Amino acid sequence: MRAQHAVSFTPTDATPTTGRGHARPNARSAEREHAVRGVTRGLTVRYGDRAARLPATPGGPAFGQAYLWRDDDGVTLVDTGIPGSEAAFAAAFDELGLRRTDLRRIMITHGHEDHTGSAAALRAWGQGVGDGVTVYAHRADAPIVRGLRRRAEPVLTPAEQPIFDSVSAGIPPVPPCQVDVELGDGDTIDFGGGARVIATPGHTDGSIAVALPAHGVLFTGDLVANSDGGLLLGPFNTDRGLARVSFAALSQVPAATVGFGQGDPLTGPEGAAAWRRLGERCAAGPDAVPDPLG
Ligand SMILES: [Zn+2]
Repeated sequence: MRAQHAVSFTPTDATPTTGRGHARPNARSAEREHAVRGVTRGLTVRYGDRAARLPATPGGPAFGQAYLWRDDDGVTLVDTGIPGSEAAFAAAFDELGLRRTDLRRIMITHGHEDHTGSAAALRAWGQGVGDGVTVYAHRADAPIVRGLRRRAEPVLTPAEQPIFDSVSAGIPPVPPCQVDVELGDGDTIDFGGGARVIATPGHTDGSIAVALPAHGVLFTGDLVANSDGGLLLGPFNTDRGLARVSFAALSQVPAATVGFGQGDPLTGPEGAAAWRRLGERCAAGPDAVPDPLG
């Protein structure tokens, strides 16, 4: 588990990548979309060739990451951090010169507290503004986001138990959030040149990944984590065997830029190569999935 603190970008990191469209010959495309990453404590923002470190959110536990995608018609967030993260998002919007009313969509990759926590507060940014903010979640996790059902407890391995205990302590209750659109595998959402929903059950029943094929970008949710030891099956799964099956399948999705729920994103040629190597390894099936916590 990392991502507790902001990470400085090296000049190499800050170089636009082909996967995000910046380095493409199409200058309009290059200017239009930017993926931004942050952590809920010490939000780090990535915007084109500019990186900025924002003030940490004082106090409280924090883990996980959220991503911001910018199109001409507004902003889409992928996940929302733990409860109380809206100030960090507001700071990120300010830093990028965005208004809160620019927020159009929230994609929730699954119903865990560090992904749904601030969804209700962020959705409220759009109240009374045009069509408002549309919240998307897979139909299997939508009742959890709505507060109608408690999330299923993960089945923890001995290696995961102490990690879980340390990161889950003290997270405030998650305010329920309306889900406007329930998703299923293969659905397409109108952002990022056509976002494709990939169901990845196993981390939770309703876990999804979101692919932006036009930009070579993939958001994996918590199914895949990028740790000090490399790419691995994310921890805290409700069905580890099923998660491995989903992982092996997701690893076959081509991507040049990959954002994870835990750990730094893969960017640039090295990142693309790392994702490709993972795909080659996991083409052998679920038993080949790296799972050192299993
Ligand atoms: Zn999770």
